[in-house]
Amino acid sequence: MKYYSTNKSTVPATLCEAVVRGLAPDRGLYMPEKIKSLPKDFFERIQDLSFKEIAFEVADAFFGEDIAAEELRNIVYDTLSFDCPVVHVNGNIWSLELFHGPTLAFKDVGARFMARMLGHFIKSDKRASGRADRCVNVLVATSGDTGSAVANGFLGVDGIHVYVLYPKGKVSKIQECQFTTLGRNITAVEIDGTFDDCQALVKDAFADEELNKQMKLTSANSINVARFLPQAFYYFNAYARMKEHGLADNLVVCVPSGNFGNITAGLFAKRMGLPVKRFIAANNANDVFLEYLHTGEYTPRPSIQTIANAMDVGAPSNFARILDLYRHSHADISADICGAAYSDAQIREAMAECYHNNGYILDPHGACGWRALTENLQSGETGVFLETAHPAKFNDTVEQAIGASLTIPPRLAAFMHGKKQSVPMTNAFADFKQYLIKKVE
Ligand SMILES: *Cc1c(COP(=O)(O)O)cnc(C)c1O
Repeated sequence: MKYYSTNKSTVPATLCEAVVRGLAPDRGLYMPEKIKSLPKDFFERIQDLSFKEIAFEVADAFFGEDIAAEELRNIVYDTLSFDCPVVHVNGNIWSLELFHGPTLAFKDVGARFMARMLGHFIKSDKRASGRADRCVNVLVATSGDTGSAVANGFLGVDGIHVYVLYPKGKVSKIQECQFTTLGRNITAVEIDGTFDDCQALVKDAFADEELNKQMKLTSANSINVARFLPQAFYYFNAYARMKEHGLADNLVVCVPSGNFGNITAGLFAKRMGLPVKRFIAANNANDVFLEYLHTGEYTPRPSIQTIANAMDVGAPSNFARILDLYRHSHADISADICGAAYSDAQIREAMAECYHNNGYILDPHGACGWRALTENLQSGETGVFLETAHPAKFNDTVEQAIGASLTIPPRLAAFMHGKKQSVPMTNAFADFKQYLIKKVE
């Protein structure tokens, strides 16, 4: 299957090209040229299928033309080494818990899938070229969460080395442990500078001809189709599990959104036939999408810092994909999605209320989702919100809001016990380039 760019000024790419490039050469986002509807009987028997079985059928609709069934099944099954269950919270509200993976956030699904798909392409490339020498180097700049999901997703995958660039002293202790203690094929590069400096170094590296001749570089950012599309898997699973409870009619799905990749994967699922009545995009104070729904005007602007910081995005990249999916029709977009936005005070209020009334602990992102369902659900509807991260990842904020202490899950605590290993680096590109070149020599 071919992938076209939302900017439509470049030739469509193969799956492999789209995955290796991430962003299209015209700076648009890749879109699959077909979104296949899944057959009626799939939805009739979906409640009898496991999460992995469901995910394989969804993956096959996108990637089946490019990757042999057995290999694709291995990639999907290996990616989903953890469950994404739905859990009852209160009334007609359920939580789709996406934090049971290695770094306790939903980004694990996309990162693990992309790592395995890239590993697959490297293997086939080696077979085709007869060259076993070339390692693919993934460069990723992080302000915290992306680095850990990508590093853990790629950990131990053959033929790939990951460099995580992060700003020294500007990520939380837990976040830092999640990518500096891994070793093996993961190198943490600690930049004496800001997150913007890290991003600039990665951009400069991709643009540097000499460097690209010496080593094969790729990015793993969240707009990559191999990270973005697998997020559709768990929407189908949520539907299946709600159907088991006899609650799948009139399903409303609420997605805490920042860059809008997660919700866009849900919209793809709906386009494939998943019977979701409507979606709610829940935002923090960064509310450009809500404004678009209300006015039809999209005005990106600098992000505002909030306690739901993974949603601090003022210019959501995947908005381009939503526009393309709905042929730029504001009416059609508004028919499928409604919005909500909450201040930090309202997010704290939601965490406290949900904990005291229902005994369920929300993280600040999921709290936006829960609150939006509480305020928007109509009678006869069942709501599922995506609980995008484990509350313990935001320990201080959550404990303060609910007035109780959290138990840190063992797999999160385990990161804290590892030995930190990082390469100190200035924010000058010349230094970073020299370091990379020395590594391949
Ligand atoms: C990345 C992230 C989000 C936002 O997801 P998008 O796909 O960028 O909309 C929400 N919650 C958490 C915990 C995240 O890490």
